[in-house]
Amino acid sequence: MMSRFDAAAKLVGISDEMYDILKVPARQVIVGLPVTMDNGAIKVFEGYRVIHSNILGPAKGGIRLDPAVNLDEVRALAAWMTWKCAVVDIPYGGAKGGIACNPREMSAGEIERLIRQYTVAMLDVIGPDRDIPAPDMGTGPREMAWIVDEYSKAKGMTVNNVVTGKPLVLGGSLGRTEATGRGVTVAALSAMDKLRMNPYRATAAVQGFGNVGSFAAELLHERGVTVVAVSDISGGYYNKSGIDITAAVSYRNSNKGTLEGFGGAEKISNEELLSLAVDVLVPAAKEDVITEDNAASIQAKMIVEGANGPTSASADEIINSKGILVVPDILANAGGVTVSYFEWVQNRIGYKWTLDRINRRADRVMKDAFDRVFDTSQRYQVPLRLAAYIVAIDKVASTYKYRGGY
Ligand code: NAD
Repeated sequence: MMSRFDAAAKLVGISDEMYDILKVPARQVIVGLPVTMDNGAIKVFEGYRVIHSNILGPAKGGIRLDPAVNLDEVRALAAWMTWKCAVVDIPYGGAKGGIACNPREMSAGEIERLIRQYTVAMLDVIGPDRDIPAPDMGTGPREMAWIVDEYSKAKGMTVNNVVTGKPLVLGGSLGRTEATGRGVTVAALSAMDKLRMNPYRATAAVQGFGNVGSFAAELLHERGVTVVAVSDISGGYYNKSGIDITAAVSYRNSNKGTLEGFGGAEKISNEELLSLAVDVLVPAAKEDVITEDNAASIQAKMIVEGANGPTSASADEIINSKGILVVPDILANAGGVTVSYFEWVQNRIGYKWTLDRINRRADRVMKDAFDRVFDTSQRYQVPLRLAAYIVAIDKVASTYKYRGGY
């Protein structure tokens, strides 16, 4: 995060003082969370919440449950959220939260008590006008519902816009589930348009077949692109005439969430998928899959980053020297936070939008953001990744200048 921030900050030409303001998080909170486990013993977990910036508006960012979570990771992820929200021009700052725990080894009751305890510990940090959590690794609508309940009890009224990513009945938004994959598709089609690539003649490979990857594959297919390969943790599946995405989704849904054993395709490895000669490569699984070790073997004409941080900073130069167009994560996967913002807006106005309205507005936000970043990349003659950071840093820095400080 910092190496890319540094490069963009230099190009925007912000002052040293502004650099320090944007580099240091506004607030970092560490809490001890005692929780009674099912066996009656009390275990103390460590929880974090970092608000990187609230200059553009209330801070926004997920809560992750993972044994490896630590303050440094949460700080980097919080800053990422600031840049992501600024790139798509939604009035949010950036935040992130985490609890160091292994949810796979905990019962639902233990997780519930932990989440409620975390909510109480963060009562003076989070809030619909201050800092709005959302799901991240290890959390989902269930955890968001517990946060709404605990926060609402403390405030003596129902406050459902304290989080986004809630179940629909609690004020969640239509379209949120598919929003990130949909945004990835809009970003890919916008990039194809710039490269004068006809979607109906284009091929794509998608790594990761979870929330982001499967919706991106489905929607790319719907827009005429031949998706020749998909993959998940069980490996890759290749068919040069195109994978039947609808069949792959229903196979996964009836097969404990994995593609293991999926027919109608040749089995390849995840590494092989990355180096296929396709037009569009969508890494949508996890971070650091494209590194300096395999970047030279990438043959795709463009990479659209569905995952957060799939390309390591050390691979950037190799990818750029090959002339591959990279639509960076903070732009390509911002469709999710955009519809989260729509969820919060709907909660505030007490009205539900139709799916059609949400999709149209989200597509417009993504398309406008892509055009803004593309124009900036032309003006500064830099890759899209740097251009996205330039757009974001410039927006936050100039807002700060108008607001002023002490
Ligand atoms: P998910 O858990 O729904 O899906 C992850 C997929 O990746 C699964 O199919 C899994 O089998 C596969 N996978 C895991 N390890 C793999 C490996 N080593 N090789 C190949 N495939 C592997 O997660 P998701 O919500 O789709 O998120 C994927 C990425 O997108 C993450 O980096 C996440 O941070 C990012 N992201 C998600 C959202 C969102 O709204 N869900 C928003 C922005 C960014």
